[in-house]
Amino acid sequence: MSKFLGKVAVVTGGSSGIGLATAKLFVEEGAFVYIAGRRQAELDKAVQEIGHNVVGVQCDVQNMADLERLYAKVRTERGVLDILVANSGIVDPQSLAETTEESFDKVFGVNVRGLTFTVQKALPLLPDGAAIVLIASIAWVKGIPGYGTYSATKAAVRSFVRTWTAELKERRIRINAVSPGPIDTPIMDSQAPTKEAADQVRASFAAAVPFGRIGRPEEVAAAVSFLASADASFIAGVDLPVDGGMIAV
Ligand code: NAP
Repeated sequence: MSKFLGKVAVVTGGSSGIGLATAKLFVEEGAFVYIAGRRQAELDKAVQEIGHNVVGVQCDVQNMADLERLYAKVRTERGVLDILVANSGIVDPQSLAETTEESFDKVFGVNVRGLTFTVQKALPLLPDGAAIVLIASIAWVKGIPGYGTYSATKAAVRSFVRTWTAELKERRIRINAVSPGPIDTPIMDSQAPTKEAADQVRASFAAAVPFGRIGRPEEVAAAVSFLASADASFIAGVDLPVDGGMIAV
């Protein structure tokens, strides 16, 4: 496939899960992809797995100097950025009664502050007609106990899509969100202390999905690829759920 032939993309959080599946699909479709994440070893593994037309850049999206270094590299090597996928995100389940300032700041720091400046600092590199996809979550429309802070960060992401679509319309930059339902990635393990507990998290989410299973990262990547491509040339400001029908029924 050559849907993205000659296109340059950045995928934050491209070393794992949904970001990795997206980066892989973009490369298969002809793009040159920069993946960003904090852990160098994970980046190296992902680069090896994808194989070609991919570069890993160590970058914490909370760190402005890291973001500037990432985009300086893209500018020097490629001169332009056609597609940005702001996907880096974390979850730290805590009920309202348990929520600590540290956890609140950490989750908002990555999912909202980090995402905001990931997009802001990319703006000078984006040509007219570029595509931005933000990874939200169906959590923003649900009331899932323990996910208050996380869900609020994703509601912010959904809101950004509307405002930024309006702000960037003169440049015809299309910004859309994808809201995954429960997807089988390492983020599931980060929510539980043991493998057994993580399996329970997976099973309880699967039971809440009409399809009776959790999703695969590749199923989300396909939606991201669609919104980033010319196939979605008249789609802007939307949030596309990829959730096996979880919020629809
Ligand atoms: P994942 O496998 O844990 O991947 C998260 C990625 O984000 C990793 O590459 C991680 O790399 C990176 N990351 C985390 N903090 C970062 C930071 N401060 N700076 C740069 N990169 C950072 O999780 P995933 O499930 O693929 O999640 C991807 C996105 O989908 C997230 O926004 C998540 O909220 C969203 N989502 C996931 C699900 C699901 O069920 N899996 C559902 C709804 C929404 P490092 O740790 O090395 O930095």
